[in-house]
Amino acid sequence: MVVFGGIVIANQPYSERLDNMKYLIYALFLITVSCGEQNKEVDPELQIYVQNIEEKAIRYTGVHLDLKLRIQLSEFPEDAAEVGICSGDKKTISISRKYFEQFSHLEELIEAVILHEIGHCLYGLEHSIETEKYIDGFDNTRPVSVMYPNANIVAMHLFGNEEYYYNDLIKFYYF
Ligand SMILES: [Zn+2]
Repeated sequence: MVVFGGIVIANQPYSERLDNMKYLIYALFLITVSCGEQNKEVDPELQIYVQNIEEKAIRYTGVHLDLKLRIQLSEFPEDAAEVGICSGDKKTISISRKYFEQFSHLEELIEAVILHEIGHCLYGLEHSIETEKYIDGFDNTRPVSVMYPNANIVAMHLFGNEEYYYNDLIKFYYF
């Protein structure tokens, strides 16, 4: 089991590397962090992912995210189960450089991690274990929020349901 900033993902055989996004997402995590009273400062390598999130926020919710955060790549301890953390009084999101380099080609996964951390930092959200029924041959429940603490499940459902999850998260912006 891998724990990432509070999000848990079951280990999956990464060996069969992925032409399949769902499979991949299984092996991963979500974390998002954002927050703070400072200017936005994004690592150049993360720029495109953050930009995509901002564009989707506007497209799906009409909200312009005010990400006054530092969003950076960091070296995590070799044995760290986490792939992202929100720190610095909720003003800094750090993403594991090792994780990023391994999965940067899967932009949905990186976006999912950042989005989850935005929930923690920008909105001060805790994890939610709430799920809802959902009819599918593959699974019959899904998290109601990207703040669900099982990253593989969150990422899997986020993919293809972005409009719902973006609205669910960003509505907190108004509270
Ligand atoms: Zn979390």
